[in-house]
Amino acid sequence: MICEILSVGTELLLGDIINTDAAFIAKRLSELGITSYRQSVVGDNAERLRETIGEAFSRSDLVILTGGLGPTLDDITKKITAEYFGVPLLMDESVREDLLRFFDKTGRPMTENNLLQALIPEGAEVFFNKWGTAPGIALSKEINGTLKTAVLLPGPPSECEPMFRECVTPYLKKLTNQTSYSLNLHLYGIGESRAEAILHDMMEQSTNPTVAPYACEHEVRIRITAFGKTEDECRKLCREKAKEISKTEAGKYIYTETNDPWEAKNSVVLALIAALRSRGMTFGTAESCTAGMISSAVGDIPGASDVLLGGIVSYANEVKEKVLGVPRVVLDDFGAVSEECAAAMAKGAKKALGCDIAVSVTGVAGPGGGSEEKPVGTVCFGLAFGDEVITEKVMFNRKSDRMRIRRLTTAHAMMMVIKKLKG
Ligand code: ATP
Ligand code: MG
Repeated sequence: MICEILSVGTELLLGDIINTDAAFIAKRLSELGITSYRQSVVGDNAERLRETIGEAFSRSDLVILTGGLGPTLDDITKKITAEYFGVPLLMDESVREDLLRFFDKTGRPMTENNLLQALIPEGAEVFFNKWGTAPGIALSKEINGTLKTAVLLPGPPSECEPMFRECVTPYLKKLTNQTSYSLNLHLYGIGESRAEAILHDMMEQSTNPTVAPYACEHEVRIRITAFGKTEDECRKLCREKAKEISKTEAGKYIYTETNDPWEAKNSVVLALIAALRSRGMTFGTAESCTAGMISSAVGDIPGASDVLLGGIVSYANEVKEKVLGVPRVVLDDFGAVSEECAAAMAKGAKKALGCDIAVSVTGVAGPGGGSEEKPVGTVCFGLAFGDEVITEKVMFNRKSDRMRIRRLTTAHAMMMVIKKLKG
């Protein structure tokens, strides 16, 4: 089914507001597996709207219109769309009652023109508006032998977005007789262009499921999306594709899989917690340049208390020495940003906190404090586990700003633990 989005509103043309409705809907359509080929904006002008609706339906089966559904004179979307479908606007009693209830509940006086919102094109499906007054509408009719569908949504994003989620999504699933499922593969230690080079042919050839890489700040994400009649069927298609990808050279960089946005956003910390939990192990940190960001990220996840024992923010050398037991001679001979110091910090944190595994970070987050030998972005990591201590030195891109270096450091420290535990 070919679809396009038509946003109605002179304020959009004038640049007074940004067309966030179209961006939101476009994203949801792609998740639903509906191909969206065009987006247009037209002002609140009957003649131009009529022309644009005609053009849109000449190439698309489904047109999603936003804006111009309200009660004021410039709100003409419903009228012009009904005209295109050749149906009259009729007073809908249930919408009228819904409007009366809305005004009664909010204590706002209802003016006569508000009732215009209860005029619905004959034969249309109504989406009751729990977030405002103008109802959404779906109108479907065979025109010249093809089924054409218009979906009309109110302009304010606070109404358009929830209405799309709650009402339009099930409507479109039914209309297209199709559902979808997505799986994210999270890769660490490989760049987007390398991942794309490995998966290029698969991405080109695979249409269901689709395979697309996304570069995030600290990782590459590969999103697999399948479309089908049932979620089970889609899930199976995604699983098969994930297996195929895991067998490629990119496969060795996959550290976890997620399928919802919250999990995807917190993939590293969730993978860390899962790795610790499955082994019944506890975790602690000694943080210099991140000043608690690692332990805080773990603490952000509900139920982290079974794995997180604590964290020591050892920003000053005195704290590294007195609390973590970093030998003075290490600080004097190698400096605070050194693998030797990171090793002593991790060992000290493990002992002080009594945890099974401790990670330490010490680095130059900038913007000042860099030297030729240790430029901004130099970070040393330590990991103490059993009797073993391992270290690593990473040079993050020196063009990165302070916060980015600290976020990359946080992710890298957690990844070090994940890799160690997974072996
Ligand atoms: P209302 O009942 O509020 O009049 P409506 O459906 O008639 O709703 P419009 O009058 O077109 O919508 O727009 C109302 C407001 O909604 C705009 O002033 C703007 O703030 C917001 N809006 C409209 N269209 C969009 C859009 N495409 N993207 C983001 N915001 C929008
Ligand atoms: Mg309006």
